[in-house]
Amino acid sequence: FLEGKRALVTGSTSGIGLAIAKALAAEGASVVINGFGDADEIAGICAEIGATHSGANLMDVGEIETMMAEAGPLDILVNNAGMQHVCPVEEFPVEKWHQVIALNLTAVFHTTRLAVPAMREKGWGRIINTASAHSKTASPFKSAYNASKHGVDGFTKTVALELAETGVTANCISPGYVWTPLIEGQIPDTMKARGLTEEQVINDVLLAKQPTKKFVQVEEVGALATFLCRTEMGNVTGANWSIDGGWTAE
Ligand code: NAD
Repeated sequence: FLEGKRALVTGSTSGIGLAIAKALAAEGASVVINGFGDADEIAGICAEIGATHSGANLMDVGEIETMMAEAGPLDILVNNAGMQHVCPVEEFPVEKWHQVIALNLTAVFHTTRLAVPAMREKGWGRIINTASAHSKTASPFKSAYNASKHGVDGFTKTVALELAETGVTANCISPGYVWTPLIEGQIPDTMKARGLTEEQVINDVLLAKQPTKKFVQVEEVGALATFLCRTEMGNVTGANWSIDGGWTAE
């Protein structure tokens, strides 16, 4: 049902973004993927789903502008690229703070401001931002991440209101813990910050948050993103969709 629609998914060479890109392509959208990684692997993804790739570093406004110009007028924008840094606030490296805010929040502003004119003109568009359960609630040692994701929630609601009469919707998807390289990468720092073993981090810190006691699967997030692109979802805007095994229900 997305034949003829053009989508850009940021941070889609891995994890959740890759699953969203695959899900949109499976419905017929032509997809631009973005992110870093091994050139052969990226070429393989492009061949598999008929996508093109932008290697833009989203911490750089100039590179975002080039990516958006090359992508052309979009029908679907999925702001998904994100990073984490786990550290007590008083030791949090200032440079890391700026990087997390730049990628998780400021880049979402830049791609959105550049995508909106074409969507407005077409009278149809879908802006989907991968926020997090940490856009609604907090855990310690993730000050920059939690601030950025709460920011994405506020930004998305604002854009939804500004575009309410245009046929363009803006929503957040807020996963709980999804097993991806981003989660794997934070386990050593969480072990250090909390003095725990790897198994304790997985069971007592991560899965302890999710009443289902299961990691969310990337394909489930892909299905939710695709669902929000349906015509019938035209009145769903400014919402923040939890997909977190019940975490934020507690
Ligand atoms: P991931 O590390 O698997 O993927 C991140 C993607 O972003 C990769 O494609 C990477 O190349 C790209 N990327 C990183 N830095 C970039 C930059 N400067 N410019 C452009 N691209 C860049 O991560 P993931 O777990 O799939 O996370 C995707 C999104 O989901 C993030 O916004 C994350 O905060 C959010 N999220 C993840 C979880 C989880 O449990 N994994 C939970 C809630 C929210």
